Amino acid sequence: MADPRPNQMMTCPYNAAHQVEHYRMHVHLQKCRKQYPKNDKSTCPFDATHIVSDVELDYHVSVCPKRSMLDNQIYVMDDEFRPTVDIQGTADCVPCEENWEDNCESSYKPDLSVKAPHIIKKIKGATPSERRKARMEAIKTYKPPGNSQ
Ligand SMILES: [Zn+2]
Ligand SMILES: [Zn+2]
Repeated sequence: MADPRPNQMMTCPYNAAHQVEHYRMHVHLQKCRKQYPKNDKSTCPFDATHIVSDVELDYHVSVCPKRSMLDNQIYVMDDEFRPTVDIQGTADCVPCEENWEDNCESSYKPDLSVKAPHIIKKIKGATPSERRKARMEAIKTYKPPGNSQ
């Protein structure tokens, strides 16, 4: 069901003989469902508080206000989620590119809320060869804590 236009004719889910303009369907349904009181009820997949007649579920899903809210949320969450993965991967796998001179394991306390923007900027700004060079430097100068103590 792709974005029905307001004036598009829809078939009433209760009776295929009812052709109703889309923007009037919810009004029509209020009357029409009284003539078919024995329909099973279904729960809206987007909001458990929306209880609709089984036959109305398709229509409801197409107009449910929670659906567009959910679409937006998924988009936003997805957008914010990816940098978080980058930060964790960097902190876990790479010997602290920010603190080559320090003893990483003992003195470096990951404060992601402070470090995050910096790290992201660095990764995005560096070309692959720059990143590889920086990583080689980090590997050369990095001393595992076990060896130095
Ligand atoms: Zn009807
Ligand atoms: Zn709903």
